[in-house]
Amino acid sequence: MYGFKIPNTNICVDYWDDEEEPQVRFLTHVHDNRLQNISNVKDTIYMTAFSLWFLKYIRKEDLEGEVVCLSLNKNHRLEGACNGDITPFYVTLIDSNHCPGSVMYLFEGKLIQCSIINLLSIIPKI
Ligand SMILES: [Zn+2]
Repeated sequence: MYGFKIPNTNICVDYWDDEEEPQVRFLTHVHDNRLQNISNVKDTIYMTAFSLWFLKYIRKEDLEGEVVCLSLNKNHRLEGACNGDITPFYVTLIDSNHCPGSVMYLFEGKLIQCSIINLLSIIPKI
């Protein structure tokens, strides 16, 4: 599996494993190695309009969760959770030039700061 979850948050990128609490999920692009178990996800999935079109009409994927298409190069305000606390964050989709509809996600804001601060706190002091 290629996906990951940002530590201490509920933000998942190309990561479709079932989790108890709601996750904020993002799809980078529509290649087989990114889609394993995506059909079972009940959370909202964010992706580009091209990725949604390709999933629905070319691959005939039947997604259970809601899909929200985000536009490129704009700062979108969303909410996630850091250690269970609802926290805002911003995401910008940047064309990754990997395949049509493929993007990189730039995450910013308090939620990401919270994740980093929690990560730094577990690094052993020298
Ligand atoms: Zn790929």
